[in-house]
Amino acid sequence: MKKILLYFIGFLTILFIIPVICTIVPQNNNIEEVVANEENEKLNKENNKKQYEYNKYGTIKLLHSKTNQIEEIQLDEYLYGVVSSEMPANYEAEALKAQAVVARTYTIYQIINNNGKHENAEICDDSNCCQAWISKQDRLEKWEAEEAEENWNKIVDAVDSTKGEIITYNGVPINAFFHANSGGITESSLNIWGEVDYPYLKSVETSGEEGYTQYKSEVILTKEELLNKLKTKYEDCSIDFSNQDCIQILEYTTSGRVKTIKFGNTEIAGTEARTLLELKSTNFTFKIDGENIIFSVIGYGHGVGMSQTGADALAKEGLKYDEIIKHFYTDVEIIDVNSL
Ligand SMILES: [Zn+2]
Repeated sequence: MKKILLYFIGFLTILFIIPVICTIVPQNNNIEEVVANEENEKLNKENNKKQYEYNKYGTIKLLHSKTNQIEEIQLDEYLYGVVSSEMPANYEAEALKAQAVVARTYTIYQIINNNGKHENAEICDDSNCCQAWISKQDRLEKWEAEEAEENWNKIVDAVDSTKGEIITYNGVPINAFFHANSGGITESSLNIWGEVDYPYLKSVETSGEEGYTQYKSEVILTKEELLNKLKTKYEDCSIDFSNQDCIQILEYTTSGRVKTIKFGNTEIAGTEARTLLELKSTNFTFKIDGENIIFSVIGYGHGVGMSQTGADALAKEGLKYDEIIKHFYTDVEIIDVNSL
């Protein structure tokens, strides 16, 4: 009877317990495998994010011009603040990418060529000196709350998707000038900064800029206001307004901008007239209307290098960021900064 009972227990063991053990063990293996796969996937994702490592220029020393503080900041993190400050976030993604590569190139050019300009810093946040920059917090506060995060992510994407990319001419980073609106044709650097003729900063035609608010503007000055503005620099300037030719454009640049203009007894460069009279560009005409002088201006900025509104217009036409860059900068290449 005992033997039968033992056999019975043995039989039960074989029937139930062994299969249970067999099923549990592989199940545990499966769970471990799933967990391992998920972890691998997570690691892969993080690796993709951090895939690019800068050999040099990975961090830069940024001078905050208002506080005079120097901050050491990751290059691409710095570029989020530059791109979001220099170009509207509602521009096309390809235009923002072009701006990111231009800003990165401009930064590295400054580091290489202007070393010592800011003593212990490599670049500053003043747009009149280097490039405009804004902190993430300040930037987010300036946007409408409902679009702030989306805008920021768009800027981050433009910078991150072009990590390490810079523009070169003959293997050397270019001086990547840019401006808001060229008025249909960009300007050769030679006509703006006479002594420097950058072979990649040639005058090129571009389309679609007329749809932007930066395309057209007007400055109206009274005769007295005009004279006072000119006198801030040229004390002896006098204009006999009874003379029909008292104001004369003497020479145009090849792109049709004012090269030299004469106000009464004073001859000045178009670029100087732009500064003194606060015109948006040197592409202007004028008209004397009673007591007023009306300046009609086309375009916004010095006109050299990439036009930002032009870049957006070309992106809308379907051009990619590298094509936009090669449209505005002549005979350049886009390379990995680590290969410098
Ligand atoms: Zn500076």
